[in-house]
Amino acid sequence: MLYFDANATTPCAPEVVEAMRPFWEGTFANASSPHRAGRLAAQAVSKARRQVAESIEASPHEIVFTSGATEGANLIFWGLLLSDSPRRKIFVSAIEHKAVLESAALLGRHGFDIVQVPVTEDGLVNIDYISENIDENTALVAVQAANNEIGTIQPIQEITALAHDAGAFIYVDAVQALGKMPVSMMDWQCDFATFSAHKIYGPKGVGALYVHGGPLAWPWPKPMNGGSQEGGLRPGTLNVPGIVGFGAACQLLQERQSEKNQFLENLRNILESELIKRYKNNIIILGQRAPRIVNTSAVMMHDISADMLLSNIQDVMLSTSSACSSSLATSSHVVMALGYDERSAHGFIRISLPLTVQEADVLQFLSNFEKSIREIRKFLGQ
Ligand code: PLP
Repeated sequence: MLYFDANATTPCAPEVVEAMRPFWEGTFANASSPHRAGRLAAQAVSKARRQVAESIEASPHEIVFTSGATEGANLIFWGLLLSDSPRRKIFVSAIEHKAVLESAALLGRHGFDIVQVPVTEDGLVNIDYISENIDENTALVAVQAANNEIGTIQPIQEITALAHDAGAFIYVDAVQALGKMPVSMMDWQCDFATFSAHKIYGPKGVGALYVHGGPLAWPWPKPMNGGSQEGGLRPGTLNVPGIVGFGAACQLLQERQSEKNQFLENLRNILESELIKRYKNNIIILGQRAPRIVNTSAVMMHDISADMLLSNIQDVMLSTSSACSSSLATSSHVVMALGYDERSAHGFIRISLPLTVQEADVLQFLSNFEKSIREIRKFLGQ
């Protein structure tokens, strides 16, 4: 089976599972307990906090562990909603993940003005649009570092400068960036960022919210109640094994990923040039002219429905859009934001290679893909 859906989730690396194991078994204590066992758990959480912070060039005290990036996004938008900020405008790029778009939409229903920032046909945020429309009424700009469907990388430093010049906060969804490109809070200078362990060979259900200056610098009321964990921003008993696994996954990234990324990018490029050679005018690679993360290929077939292909292709796991919206029978909002109509968007397939991929896997994929297309065309009488 070829698992080419790494942007949806990744398997836990064996080293990560091993790092977590003691915290399911012997060292199971609550990290807030004052006894020795509790202190051991708290020490493990501190180590993980350092590992996560190091991998994003932040300080450990700026890391707030959450259940994932969706929770982190919700905390940011709820915080702003509860605030008495006189600024009522929020800029959100049109190709954000639903975790961000729908959190922003909530504020739209409560009197905020949500401005969707258009993107170019290559999937890059239209910076001129932000600079022309941002003003002293802007509270927040939310732009992802890398897109989960088409992989395009946004110029975060430039957008941060625009937001800060206007006195607004900037939030960066960095879920798909971590491990696939340099991620540095020091360089980005953003106010908030979110991360998710299960996209980087860590466990599901754990992530981090980066807050510049840490929870003490959080500018709004804290949306959650019931405990003082994570500076009161994310109260509740800590998921010690998950957090330890997240830390271990970050450590592995530091050790390995940069050397793997070049290999991954070469394979992705082989895959794309073969697809273009074989399907010529019937295929487009979205975002190909923009900077992209190394593992992602967004393919649009003109004459084949992606749903048919996905259900027909043998032994290959792919997706049509983000896993979070794939149960809804809608076209990808990302593809539509690039200017394609709904009909074209039905031909969209996301290929996202895992770190373990080999050249033989790509060749096998191409062969299975070709076979499936042949069968579908025959079935449709094309
Ligand atoms: N943002 C992006 C870009 C994503 O790809 C995802 C996951 O698909 C999320 C946010 C949500 O992350 P989580 O699964 O940790 O809630």
